[in-house]
Amino acid sequence: MKPADFPKEVQPYLIPEPGGNLSYRCLGCDRTHDIHQLLYTCPDCGQVLLIKDLMFDRLKEIPGEKWRMIFDYRRMLKVPALKGIYRYHEFIGPMIPLDAIVYLGEGHTPIVEANQRLQDEVGMRFFYKNDGQNPSASFKDRGMASALSYINYLIRQGSLSNVLAVCASTGDTSAAAALYSAYLNPRIKSAVILPRGKVTPQQLSQPLGSGAKVFEIPGVFDDCMKVVEALSEKYPVALLNSKNAWRILGQESYAFEISQEFEYETGKLVVVLPIGNAGNITAVMSGFIKFYQTGIIDRLPKIIGVQSEHANPVFNYYQQADTHKRKFEPVSVRASVAQAAMIGNPVSMPRVIQQVDLYNRLAGMERVFFTAVTEQDIMDKQLQVNRNGHIACTHGGESLAGLMVAMAGGIVSGAETAILDSTAHALKFSGFQELYFDDRFPAEYEITPNANYINKPVSVHPDHLDFTPQTGKPLKGAEFDTFVAQVSTYIADYLQIRTGEPDDYA
Ligand SMILES: *Cc1c(COP(=O)(O)O)cnc(C)c1O
Ligand SMILES: [Zn+2]
Repeated sequence: MKPADFPKEVQPYLIPEPGGNLSYRCLGCDRTHDIHQLLYTCPDCGQVLLIKDLMFDRLKEIPGEKWRMIFDYRRMLKVPALKGIYRYHEFIGPMIPLDAIVYLGEGHTPIVEANQRLQDEVGMRFFYKNDGQNPSASFKDRGMASALSYINYLIRQGSLSNVLAVCASTGDTSAAAALYSAYLNPRIKSAVILPRGKVTPQQLSQPLGSGAKVFEIPGVFDDCMKVVEALSEKYPVALLNSKNAWRILGQESYAFEISQEFEYETGKLVVVLPIGNAGNITAVMSGFIKFYQTGIIDRLPKIIGVQSEHANPVFNYYQQADTHKRKFEPVSVRASVAQAAMIGNPVSMPRVIQQVDLYNRLAGMERVFFTAVTEQDIMDKQLQVNRNGHIACTHGGESLAGLMVAMAGGIVSGAETAILDSTAHALKFSGFQELYFDDRFPAEYEITPNANYINKPVSVHPDHLDFTPQTGKPLKGAEFDTFVAQVSTYIADYLQIRTGEPDDYA
């Protein structure tokens, strides 16, 4: 449908004009800083920033009911800039004109209900929201679309040129950064810094394929992050890590999409997220808060943040029940299959502390919880759900493991409905599945394969056969017929299927 064909009362709202008054707000000293500059930490006190719309209250003048209608109609538009995260333009980047928006197909990811068998096994109704179905196959594209649309806007305005974008990464940030930068080639070049051997081959192939300069350095992610911070402090580079508050803004779309998909009835929802650098959970809390404050949703969903026992500084912090005694301590990470979350000193920790506090205060009760899970459970849950039609990555397995710990601990009841974040596509982490199936996990992972989940290809060997085709040397005539008959009999015997009527297989 074309905009002119929509109901008259939504027409003026369908295509948003640039608006709002965005500003960087420091989490340490509460000062605000001009948004028309690349800024990652407060020049006054060094603390991380969030982006605040100083005119946010204008959004409250539109009733929640009207907003819901705007988003539902906007969803039917055929305007690319408004198809992804900017369907929620007024809440994500109101100052960005539509022609500066970079849309590569991110956002609007599917929410898939688990089959009955899996729901029975888990003991509650739940869905996966498949953020692996973003263009670079992880949720990082949401934040990258926001960060690069903003940079594109500055370039078009003339306040920025020849941008060198850099990031440190556990794999997925660099894939997303390289992809979005490549789209803006040659105005943006990108360089990514990875911990050698700590990203999967698929993740390494992504920035290479997008044409980014890739630097592999010794150490873990936290070491890479320090190098990138040093670079961004000394040189004029655009930092694309989640320290960049624009990333957080874009990732809020995950919360908006869940709200919309559940008809804005969020009171019985439990949203489960794996935590690494803690940018995503910050964004999801912030997104729900914005929709709550504007009356678009009337209850804040429960949030469960999950960490592996091998990288759990956020979980540890919240173990202390007395809020005054809480003290953040970075941890030394150990090997984890939730490798993209293998972070001991999360950049967004101050943001988490602030947002959890605000979230619980607005809800009038404790609404954000944290759980820790074993590496064994992460792998087992991933394999279990994927054998039931999902495409969860290891972190998606971590989400389910975390939900089940929360259920066992009485944090979640069977009457609620859970939305689990599968933050990336299963294929990115298929190497871990291979280690599991081959029972080759190094001891440090503490994972023992469950025989029920092991699956390997069955090789039909030439010594079972009289004739075998080869590349460039196809079989012909009777030899080919013999080959087909022998292989099909072998497979039928292996599967113990018999000839006969289809009814026989019942
Ligand atoms: C980045 C990432 C995470 C962790 O998200 P944070 O925002 O760093 O907490 C989890 N899973 C995957 C697949 C990721 O790429
Ligand atoms: Zn400050």
